[in-house]
Amino acid sequence: MQGIPLLRWSFTGILAALFLFMVMEAPKCFIFIEIRHMKKLLLILFICSPLLLLSQRTILHCGKLIDVTKGLVLNEYSIIIEGNTITDVQAGYSKAAGTDKVVDLKSKTVMPGLIDCHVHLEHETSPTRYMETFTFNPADYAFQSAVFAERTLMTGFTTVRDLGGTGVNISLRNAINKKLAKGPRVYTAGKSIATTGGHADPTNGFRNDLMGDPGPAAGVANGPDECRKAVRQRYKDGADLIKITASGGVLSVAKSGENPQFTEEEIKAIVETARDNGFKIAAHCHGAEAMKRAVRAGVNSIEHGTLMDEEVMQLMKQHGTYYVPTITAGRSVADSAKKPGYYPALVTPKALAIGPKIQSTFGKAYKAGVKIAFGTDAGVYAHGKNWLEFVYMVEAGMPAMEAIQSATVAAADLIGIADKTGSIEKGKWADIVAVDGDPIKDIQAMGKVTFVMKDGVVYK
Ligand SMILES: [Zn+2]
Repeated sequence: MQGIPLLRWSFTGILAALFLFMVMEAPKCFIFIEIRHMKKLLLILFICSPLLLLSQRTILHCGKLIDVTKGLVLNEYSIIIEGNTITDVQAGYSKAAGTDKVVDLKSKTVMPGLIDCHVHLEHETSPTRYMETFTFNPADYAFQSAVFAERTLMTGFTTVRDLGGTGVNISLRNAINKKLAKGPRVYTAGKSIATTGGHADPTNGFRNDLMGDPGPAAGVANGPDECRKAVRQRYKDGADLIKITASGGVLSVAKSGENPQFTEEEIKAIVETARDNGFKIAAHCHGAEAMKRAVRAGVNSIEHGTLMDEEVMQLMKQHGTYYVPTITAGRSVADSAKKPGYYPALVTPKALAIGPKIQSTFGKAYKAGVKIAFGTDAGVYAHGKNWLEFVYMVEAGMPAMEAIQSATVAAADLIGIADKTGSIEKGKWADIVAVDGDPIKDIQAMGKVTFVMKDGVVYK
C-alpha cells in the first residue's frame, strides 16, 4: 500500500474531473463517452491532477497496538489512514512520503475507538434531576447533551448506544453526524418503551391530574397491539434500535425495582415488529423473571441483569443474548443514595439494595460464559467517567484484554457494525484512541486517553 503519493490518484479527484468533463460535453455524451472525447478527458485529468490527485494519508506510529481480534499487544506498528478509512496496518514505523502526515504515538498504547453500549446523553445525575422533568424544555436537553457528548468522545468513546431519553437524542445524533456538534457516533433508541407505571413511564410519581395516560407515541404500551404501535412510532421518529424496560428500575418513582413489567406475548410483539423495521432490541431488566421472558422472546441484550440466576445465564447462552452490565451505574447510585435527600424516598431503598449487586452478578455471568458487551449507563453517573467500568470489570475477575474486547469487537457485534468498527483493520472506519501507559498491565490507564480519532478526524 505504500505508493509514491504523486502516482496515487484520489477517487474524489477522478470523479471531480469526470464531472467537469461531463458538464463541458453535456448533453452529447451524458451517458457514453465517445472515443473522440477521450483526448479532452485525458487533458482535463492532467490539468486537474496537481490539485486533485493527492489523497493525504495520516500515519500513526504506535509504540504498542492492541489487536483486539487476536487478543494480542503488538509492538512498533503503523496505521495508515486515508479520509475516514484505515487503509493499512504495517509492522514497524512506516516512512512518510510527500504530503503524508505522521502522528507520533510511540510512547502510547493504541486501540480501536471505544464503544459504550448503554448511555443516556440527554441528562446527568444530580439532586435536582427529578425537577428537570417539569422545568426543562427540549432545547435545555439539547444544549447539555451536546456538552455530555463531547465529554464522552474526549475520553475515548467514539461510538455509543443511547438507550433512552426524550427524543432529543435523535436530534443530537443528527447534529453530530452533520458535524454541528462534537460527539461519538450515536445509535439511539429515542424514547424507551414501558408499560403503564413501568420503569420508563414518563409520568411516574406525578400528581394525579398531571399523570394523564401516555400512550404508544410517548413510549407507554399495553397489550401486543400497542407494543407494535410503539415500535412503529420509534421507526417513524428515526430511532436506530428499540429499548424496553422489561422490569422495574432503580431511579423511577415506583415501588419495585425488579417486577416483570411486560408479558412475554407483549415482548414477542415488540421483537417481531422491531425486526420488521431493522431494529435490535435492548431490554432493561433487574429481576430474573423479566430476563427469562425477554431472552425467550428474542431480545439482543439484557441491560443491568442484576438478579440474574443460573437459569437466565443458561438461557442467554442458548439464545446468544449479550449482557451489558453497567456496574458503574450500580455503584454510583448506591453511593448517591447514602446522601440524604439525593433521591426521592421511593428510590433510595432500591438504589441501596440493587446498586451494589451488579458487580458480583457480572463476575458470575463472566465465569458462566455469557457474552458480554461493555455498557455503563452514563448519565446515571457523571458523563466522562465511563472508563471506570473497565476497572470494575477487572476487579470482578475479567482479564483486561477481554474487558477491552467487550468495548470494541463485542460491542460492535451487538450494535451490528462489526464490519465497520471495533477493530483496527484495513477497510474499517478510522476510529482510533491511545492511552498513556499499558492498560493490559494496569487497567487504570484506560482513564488516561490522550489521543482520539473518530472517522479519520483527530479530536484530541
Ligand atoms: Zn439506562
